[in-house]
Amino acid sequence: MAFQLPDLPYAYDALEPHVDARTMEIHHTKHHAAYTANLNAAIAGTDAESLTIEDILANISKYSGAVRNNGGGFYNHNLFWEIMSPNGGGEPSPQTNIHKAIVRDLGSFENFKTQFTAAAMTRFGSGWAWLCVDGNDRLFITSTPNQDNPLMDLAEAKGTPILGLDVWEHAYYLNYQNRRPDYVAAFFNVINWQEVTKRYNDANPGRSDF
Ligand code: MN
Repeated sequence: MAFQLPDLPYAYDALEPHVDARTMEIHHTKHHAAYTANLNAAIAGTDAESLTIEDILANISKYSGAVRNNGGGFYNHNLFWEIMSPNGGGEPSPQTNIHKAIVRDLGSFENFKTQFTAAAMTRFGSGWAWLCVDGNDRLFITSTPNQDNPLMDLAEAKGTPILGLDVWEHAYYLNYQNRRPDYVAAFFNVINWQEVTKRYNDANPGRSDF
């Protein structure tokens, strides 16, 4: 069963002016589509065809560079489209588990923004910034190079990503050129906190409310 390029959950121009329509269209129909096709080609005829993408990523050190790069690219963009929304941005309600966890583990919502921005800005070259849940149900912020992510067994900091920002130039160059800081600042206006909260809750279904 080949992996499928998902449809975007909104129109290409829905995130304007923060992310422009042309960038969204090329990013989805060219970049994400290529990662998907190349992943399928790289696993064709192997046992990996019957695995979930999460299972492949969890053992990525056993696979080729093509599976690592394109499997990461497939998963990372699936997540990226979902955690943005034209109705997003702002600060989640203090009553939500995600807000309580951010305050508990990162100090404050402002600290979260500062740390996440730093992760996105200090990732040299291409990569991603992440908000993740670790094995002890604590939030942490990290970044990864290229199309790696924290689900990979070879990641420096391992956990379940619940929010991710693509800082490859293809994600912002048409609209922002070299101004990565402006792109990162704009991202906070489109974060789909409902989806991030869902992913936080799904990361540990056994967690009791706090
Ligand atoms: Mn990308």
